[in-house]
Amino acid sequence: MIQSQTVIEQLAGRPLTTLSEDEQMFRASVREFAEGELRPRVTQMEEAGKLDPAVIKQCFDLGLMAIETPEEYGGAGANFFSAILAVEELSRVDASVGVLIDVQNTLVNNAVIRWGDTAQKQKYLPKLAAETVGAYALSEAGSGSDAFALQTRAVDKGDHYLLNGQKMWITNGVEAGIFVLFANLNPEAGYRGITAFIIEKGFPGFSVGKKENKLGIRASSTVELILEDCRVPKENVLGEVGKGYKISIETLNEGRIGIGAQMIGIAVGALECALAYTGERQQFGKLINQFQGVQFQLAEMATELEAARLMVYNAARMKGAGINFVKEAAMAKLYSSRVAERITSKAIELYGGYGYVKDYPVEKYWRDSKIGAIYEGTSNMQLQTIAKLLIGSK
Ligand SMILES: Cc1cc2nc3c(=O)[nH]c(=O)nc-3n(C[C@H](O)[C@H](O)[C@H](O)COP(=O)(O)OP(=O)(O)OC[C@H]3O[C@@H](n4cnc5c(N)ncnc54)[C@H](O)[C@@H]3O)c2cc1C
Repeated sequence: MIQSQTVIEQLAGRPLTTLSEDEQMFRASVREFAEGELRPRVTQMEEAGKLDPAVIKQCFDLGLMAIETPEEYGGAGANFFSAILAVEELSRVDASVGVLIDVQNTLVNNAVIRWGDTAQKQKYLPKLAAETVGAYALSEAGSGSDAFALQTRAVDKGDHYLLNGQKMWITNGVEAGIFVLFANLNPEAGYRGITAFIIEKGFPGFSVGKKENKLGIRASSTVELILEDCRVPKENVLGEVGKGYKISIETLNEGRIGIGAQMIGIAVGALECALAYTGERQQFGKLINQFQGVQFQLAEMATELEAARLMVYNAARMKGAGINFVKEAAMAKLYSSRVAERITSKAIELYGGYGYVKDYPVEKYWRDSKIGAIYEGTSNMQLQTIAKLLIGSK
């Protein structure tokens, strides 16, 4: 509480978009990497449907895979807001890399930092900081919005657990070596049987299945995971047995702010393209940005982006200050994903026919934006959370 009070006092009276010196330096270094190393590879990775391993390595080398992880475990020891800035900056150039580091930081590292015991932190956090990609496996073919209906089962075998089932839609699944995975140990207890496990790729009975062929974020892998009598050591339960539902809810509450950041990054990228293009393209003997109709569209896009950014930053600052942020995070994800879709769509229109072809960057931004309304809770699920917190549940 004292710490939260200090954070609130430090932030009091400051515009939400004002960054501390550390945050400014960090954002500048992420932008330099995104422009210098990432941008030249975006098209190739998109076409290959695969992240360049050199990009992943650079993300580790720059500390982007362990932004909040304490320095004693090899992380950067920075704040949550810095992770949000990194996701935004990377997604401005490539949302697939944005989600790579988003999942690593806001879901996987976060879960191990918050719920891991000392041995788990010592074993897994340094790996996740230095070389091993992480993934977060909750969804299944039959359980998405209704996540607690998951069918993956864990059975206590005395000195180990045996896990059976299939996960679907798992981001980073091709590259990952460590998985935070949810299974039900006591189906009779319903959601109170759900337990989180740390699974290593090499555990017997674990394999990676089909890779999805997607509309957007094509370089980001999305896969099925198969558990066939997967043998998991007893010490790999994350948090308490039967408390996995709480871990999943709480990590996703934070993760949603990260998806909001991914969406504003995409919108920034598309708006920058639209501003540049409309300042070069001539029709009727004039630059098209000299037509009031075009100017007003650009002004609308910039205004909506500003509103979305303020919502995402506010939710992130609330989390950093230890204030309950659940409603604001749901609102930020809902709104920023809608704004990203609108801005990217408008950017295509402002490019005219050129916006519709792959020689220009804006159609990719639009395709990449669509996922914001789906993962880490669909837009309807965000509305449900917001409504529940407004009205109260009976
Ligand atoms: C590219 C990609 C990456 C993903 N990455 C991950 C990952 O890393 N880890 C992971 O665990 N999952 C991941 N997911 C899964 C994602 O979280 C789910 O797809 C999402 O939660 C929706 O679940 P569903 O697909 O089963 O849709 P459903 O839950 O079947 O929803 C279908 C429609 O019904 C609506 N609906 C459902 N229930 C209600 C209700 N009660 N009220 C109103 N409307 C409702 C939904 O809003 C939606 O419009 C990923 C998905 C994709 C596409």
